[in-house]
Amino acid sequence: MPASDEELLIKEARRKRGFRRSGRALIVTLAAAAAFGVIGWLLLFRVRPVIKAIPLLPTGSLLSVLLVAGIGAFAVAAILIAWAWLGANPGKPWGKPFSGTCPRCGGSVLREDSVEYDLRDGAHLKIGPKGLVILCETRGCDYATALVTTPTRA
Ligand SMILES: [Zn+2]
Repeated sequence: MPASDEELLIKEARRKRGFRRSGRALIVTLAAAAAFGVIGWLLLFRVRPVIKAIPLLPTGSLLSVLLVAGIGAFAVAAILIAWAWLGANPGKPWGKPFSGTCPRCGGSVLREDSVEYDLRDGAHLKIGPKGLVILCETRGCDYATALVTTPTRA
């Protein structure tokens, strides 16, 4: 029997929580930011001066394209760093606090977040379920529940 939408969403929520806790989410984001920063620096301070130095060529429009692309790459790097700081920080717990107590362990450290499972059909269209997952944060407690808002499209 295939996994239900609830099971898929809970699995995805646990995967995301583990990814964040491991710090890998932060590393991946910062690595991407560094890559965009380097691209921006190369375009603005390496490639542009070289092309500017070429005499007798109509390089004006190419230079403006490089300028815009370089500034754009720096902007993407800045957005990624801000996102890493706000979102991917491993010190920050997964999801938002959910009021109530865990029906399994009685702890009051439930957290909820909206989750989308990446399921695709034969034509690679996204059909996967979407919903809200509540996980218990107590160590050793594996309580999890999911509320499907958009079921898998058959
Ligand atoms: Zn619990």
